[in-house]
Amino acid sequence: MTTAQDLDVTPTPLALLLLGREADPSSERGVDCPGDLPAPSDPGLVERARAAKERLGEKVFVLGHHYQRDEVIQFADVTGDSFKLAQQAAARPEAEFIVFCGVHFMAESADILTTDAQAVVLPDLAAGCSMADMATAEQVAECWDVLTEAGVADATVPVSYMNSSADIKAFTGRHGGTICTSSNAERALEWAFAQREAGAGKVLFLPDQHLGRNTAIRDLGLAPGDCVVYNPHRPNGGLTAEQLREAKMILWRGHCSVHGRFSLDSVNEVRERIPGVNVLVHPECKHEVVSAADQVGSTEHIIKALDAAPAGSKWAVGTELNLVRRLAKRHPDKEIVFLDRTVCFCSTMNRIDLPHLVWALESLADGKLVNRIEVDKETGHFAELALERMLALP
Ligand code: SF4
Repeated sequence: MTTAQDLDVTPTPLALLLLGREADPSSERGVDCPGDLPAPSDPGLVERARAAKERLGEKVFVLGHHYQRDEVIQFADVTGDSFKLAQQAAARPEAEFIVFCGVHFMAESADILTTDAQAVVLPDLAAGCSMADMATAEQVAECWDVLTEAGVADATVPVSYMNSSADIKAFTGRHGGTICTSSNAERALEWAFAQREAGAGKVLFLPDQHLGRNTAIRDLGLAPGDCVVYNPHRPNGGLTAEQLREAKMILWRGHCSVHGRFSLDSVNEVRERIPGVNVLVHPECKHEVVSAADQVGSTEHIIKALDAAPAGSKWAVGTELNLVRRLAKRHPDKEIVFLDRTVCFCSTMNRIDLPHLVWALESLADGKLVNRIEVDKETGHFAELALERMLALP
């Protein structure tokens, strides 16, 4: 039987733009797309994806993130958030190829948690995450130097959101910190503060300032003044040593380009437009949006809340549009609308489309391993340490 190791792996150093055509060498990651992508207009795409998946049988396991397009989700063996999907991949050691329909950091996490005999494939390597890209390894190392210079590094425990690169997860593992998801951020922060003498600890929260701030203020009862924002584009993060010494939460200046778009105006406007509406938002939204909402929760929480909602109830949902549309279709007895009037997909997530999925599956079925995501051993080791701390959270 052919294994992932036996296959011809083509290194793919350049950036992929729309549908794999052209290259952007200044992009952080991405590839030239070896081979021909099928045309999006090809009427046989669904059949081709089905046939390639059938040829691969048990050797392939397709993961679909909740924010993926319907045309891709229909081929997912399992759907979920990034951490659940990485765990599902690890629970299927017989699957040699994990095709991850999500974004780059998610595929990295899957590679960290799966065995060396499994290859994780991202159908379009240009599917990155703008939030994860807002914290690079160099910037974070520089930030740690600034904290050291200010005399606060020893008191600081890093907590990194799952939506970060393997490098940032490894930094977190090396410095005694943990990873968190939007479901366990409260427990992660409590754990981090408990690692230092009562009242003396600080958290460096990466890379999403909104999740960090919302969790600190809403769940832990910290004051807005306990939080400072470290801007990697300004000398010393734009903070004085005194500000760093006084802060409890040092928030990295990163955000999600999808959830960061919702505003207080969106909430006020929808309440006026749909009387009696329940506003349900993701904690990656700005603090003012989260404060004005009726419910706040992770993607999994949003799905469960809408599944459990009574018929006839009205909901305005502040998360990625593909998911909101799917939930609205799944619950025709409830009124479910997108929180904002402007459409807002996650553009990088949307790069994974049916032509790319067909191309990846057919390449694998033809014995050619493409777009493999591999995290180097040392980075993987420390990133896994941080992930294990998350799994051990009380
Ligand atoms: S929705 Fe936001 S956090 Fe998620 S992949 Fe897209 S940009 Fe990144």
